Amino acid sequence: MPNPAPITTIHEEYAAFKTKELKLNLTRGKPSTAQLDLSNGLLSRPADYLAADSTDCRNYGNLQGLAEARRLFSELLGAPPDQVLVANNSSLALMHDTIVYSLLKGTCDSRTPWSKQGEIAFLCPVPGYDRHFRICEDYGIRMIPVRLNDDGPDMDEVERLVATDASIKSIWCVPKYSNPTGAIYSDAVIERLAAMRTAAPDFRLLWDNAYAVHHLTDERIEIANILEACTHHNHANRPLVFASTSKITYAGAGLALFAASPANIKWILARFTPRTIGPDKLNQLRHVRFLKDHAGILSMMEKHRALIAPKFQKVLDIFDDKLRGLCDVRWTRPKGGYFISLDVPQGCARRVVALAKDAGVELTPAGATYPHGKDPQDRNIRIAPTFPELPEIAAAAEGVCLCIHLAIAERRGNIS
Ligand code: PLP
Repeated sequence: MPNPAPITTIHEEYAAFKTKELKLNLTRGKPSTAQLDLSNGLLSRPADYLAADSTDCRNYGNLQGLAEARRLFSELLGAPPDQVLVANNSSLALMHDTIVYSLLKGTCDSRTPWSKQGEIAFLCPVPGYDRHFRICEDYGIRMIPVRLNDDGPDMDEVERLVATDASIKSIWCVPKYSNPTGAIYSDAVIERLAAMRTAAPDFRLLWDNAYAVHHLTDERIEIANILEACTHHNHANRPLVFASTSKITYAGAGLALFAASPANIKWILARFTPRTIGPDKLNQLRHVRFLKDHAGILSMMEKHRALIAPKFQKVLDIFDDKLRGLCDVRWTRPKGGYFISLDVPQGCARRVVALAKDAGVELTPAGATYPHGKDPQDRNIRIAPTFPELPEIAAAAEGVCLCIHLAIAERRGNIS
């Protein structure tokens, strides 16, 4: 294990870093401008509004989305087109809405609204996605953290909890290249999630496959099909699969995608009926014409990868160089997705984030990857390298390393 640098040197280096007056932001997993530019073909399509079945996309209708759009995303979602729903942008909005509908109206397996069943709880694999936790927080849903391993949630714990506690209605799952650790659910974990006995008759897997095609390496990792696995175990209504084109085309003007059992599709369409007379089908048609087919989606993702993989590599190179061997400091090497998860020694994450902020490097608040923003060990920091340009990424990563060294030195009591 290398000795940490002499304290005076760390202090001087940090002071020098501060004088650069940088304004760097590694907080949110946003596509960069160059990534967004890859889809500018969406903006220049000729006037085109007739779908294959002559639907006039300028008009109301098609609550479930255009047939050709449902076909386009069928393979990504692992569901036949009639079990796919294509909605306006933001899959997070769809997740939010399905939870609110369940709270207010019940599910297709239990007409009693969840809000009339006393306190309900969701399992939250940690570290996880802060916005999932925000939805729970906003609606008073108790969050039960469970450990997220490299191959998915700790299944012994998940099975133990859901088997006896009927108030546990769901588990949040980002099964591929999870936010923030990059975890990939193994076939064995997926099989257990599909098969497990749950006390709640309408238990739901909130299957947020946001990074289904977002590879960072040559490996084309595929995971088991959750809809098929659940159907096989007579739990066809258990999974609600979400995805979007937010990080395929435009984060602010893409399409949200949903797949589920026929009964769940019927259920969500019934909930949508009073809410809207139909989605933005022009955007759906544009996406169909632009991406064409699943191969078109994969080739677009190769272009994204060419832009962002070097940014991840830069951060990893700098971490390897500056942090390797430092006691209790480790980071993930994701094979896809949008994040690197960095663990620092216990009790240091908040301090590292504060030091970085003072030096002009904005990081996601420490604790954000845990329910209620409280990391019990104060260890985890989420790094989002996609948005800034490469030189900025390098400067920010160097700054983060410096702040880690300084926070560790402070904790040793060597700097007041
Ligand atoms: N789900 C996960 C796991 C994410 O990381 C993100 C964005 O970072 C989203 C969902 C947001 O998806 P959308 O833009 O479709 O709302």
